Amino acid sequence: MSKPKLIVGNWKMNGGLSANQALIDEIKAGLGAVRCRASVCVPHPYLAQVQLLLAGTPIALGAQDVSIHAAGAYTGEVSSTMLRDFGVRYCIVGHSERRQYHRESEVDVALKAKQALACGITPIVCVGETLAQRDAGETEAVVKRQLAAVVHENGHCISEIVVAYEPVWAIGTGRTATPEQAQEVHAVLRAQIKAATPHHERVAILYGGSMNAANAAELLVQPDVDGGLIGGAALKATDFLTILRAASR
Ligand code: PEP
Repeated sequence: MSKPKLIVGNWKMNGGLSANQALIDEIKAGLGAVRCRASVCVPHPYLAQVQLLLAGTPIALGAQDVSIHAAGAYTGEVSSTMLRDFGVRYCIVGHSERRQYHRESEVDVALKAKQALACGITPIVCVGETLAQRDAGETEAVVKRQLAAVVHENGHCISEIVVAYEPVWAIGTGRTATPEQAQEVHAVLRAQIKAATPHHERVAILYGGSMNAANAAELLVQPDVDGGLIGGAALKATDFLTILRAASR
């Protein structure tokens, strides 16, 4: 039997104390007998609030970034130990918005994954090509290189990561990869994970990039799509619940 799918909401820099409460309350009310795994990755200041709101639910708490350092004079940074203090189970690393706006390198992303793993937090390692790279036929080389950096730094721990394929051109644009395009890249990533660890079956590969209530089912049915990383649609309870149900079939 295949493992339950994993649906992760990425709230990005959205939310507020009352909006978070309303969103989680509505998700909890509609959760019913959802059978997939689920998480929401919230901004750091809301970890404590959302930890309490999620208590007793099957939804795991997630964060959106972590420092490459363990502790010390790094003003503004948040360590993986701090995330663990709030019960964080997943942490996104290497989101394209951080690679682009904060110039995070492949080595940075690999070191962030390492910090998360050291604290028992599952890093959700994002990889993906830009439109120019896709048009130049470089998709496979780009995602393999991004994942290789994380494999290189993390050795046998690689079986404990989650990978998210997020084509940059599909994030927040309303332009989703077709199920065939997603499956093609997921198969490449699957082969790379298989070559890296005998425990490859533990590694979920999520698709992210304008996944929504309308297109989730056809993406999630692809053989190598183990779940989704959801941005915009994770901010609307009805849409997020529809995706959770599509992942529970
Ligand atoms: C994301 O931020 O990871 C993402 C996939 O965003 P969206 O679903 O809005 O494209």
